[in-house]
Amino acid sequence: MVLGALEAGGTKMVCAIGNEQGQVLERVSIPTVSPEETMPQMLSFFKQHNIEALGIGCFGPINPVEGTATYGYITTTPKLAWQNYNIVGAFQEALGCPVGFDTDVNAAVLGEVSFGSMQGLDSCIYVTVGTGVGVGVFTGGRLLHGMMHPEAGHILLQRHPADTYKGKCPFHGNCLEGLASGPAIEERWGAKAETLGDRREVWELEAYYIAQACVNYTLVYSPKRIILGGGVMHQEQLFPLIRRQYQELMADYVITPELENLNRYIIPCSLHDDQGILGCLKLAMDALEKFLARALQHLGL
Ligand code: ADP
Ligand code: ZN
Repeated sequence: MVLGALEAGGTKMVCAIGNEQGQVLERVSIPTVSPEETMPQMLSFFKQHNIEALGIGCFGPINPVEGTATYGYITTTPKLAWQNYNIVGAFQEALGCPVGFDTDVNAAVLGEVSFGSMQGLDSCIYVTVGTGVGVGVFTGGRLLHGMMHPEAGHILLQRHPADTYKGKCPFHGNCLEGLASGPAIEERWGAKAETLGDRREVWELEAYYIAQACVNYTLVYSPKRIILGGGVMHQEQLFPLIRRQYQELMADYVITPELENLNRYIIPCSLHDDQGILGCLKLAMDALEKFLARALQHLGL
C-alpha cells in the first residue's frame, strides 16, 4: 500500500511516502510559507507517488470534527497566511484520495500507539515541549477531540514563588506553554535552551512546571503512560527531575500499578522523532479504511 503522510508544522512541512508497516520510504521537507506557495510543492511530491490515501498531522488550532461546517480547516492559527484555510479540501480535490486529518500531537500519540512503546495501551498521552507545548490524547482506544481538540499545553499552572518571568503566551500569564516552552526558557534565561544544559536551576524550574502539568494530566485524562517529546525534552536530565517532583505533588493520592514505577510511566519518545510522521501514516490508513467501509455500505454490502 502506498500511503502519504504530511507533518504540517509552522516552520516546515514534512511530506513522506510510507506503507502500513510504518516504513517511511521517502521524505522531503518544504518550508511553510503560504498556501499559494507551499501547496503546489507538496502536491507535486504526492502526485509523483500515486498515493492511495493521505494522513495530515497539523499545527493548529484546527477543526478535526467530521460533519461540522469547517471540518478540515486550519482555523485561528497565528500563521496568518493559513488562517481559515481548508487544507483537507485542497488535498482531497487535487489528489482525489481519502485524507485523514488531526492535530500534530494527536498524530504523534497515534504513532506511538501504532508503532512505538505505547502499542497495546488504550489510554495514553503524548506531550511535546518545543516551540509550543501541545498534548495528544488517546483515550478509550481513540483520539480525543471533544468539541475541537484538547489544548492542554495551555493549562494554567502555579507559578514558582521565585520565578518572576512574565510568561511567553500572549493569552495567559501562567500557562504551561508560556512558562516552559523553548522560547520561554530562552527569554527567561537569556540564551537558547540547547545551550543551557549545565545550568541545574534551569532544569529544576522546567521540571517544576512539567511535573505539575503531568500530575494534572494524570488526574484529568487518567493515561496509562505519558510520553514527553519535543526539542526541550532532548535535555535528558529533565526526566528524573520531573519524576521526583511528580511523585511529591501526587503525594500517593492515585495508587495504580502504572504509577508504581515512574521510570516506566513518564518516558521519552521511542521512535526517534518519527512518531509524528508515522502517526500520519496511520491516519492515512484509517481514512482509507473508513472510505472503503462507506463505499461498501453505499453498495449495500
Ligand atoms: P517545533 O516545536 O518547532 O516543531 P522542536 O520540538 O525542535 O520544534 O522545538 C524547538 C524548541 O526546542 C526551540 O525553542 C529550541 O530552543 C528547543 N530545543 C531544541 N533542541 C533542544 C535541546 N537539545 N535542548 C533544549 N532545548 C532544545
Ligand atoms: Zn497560553
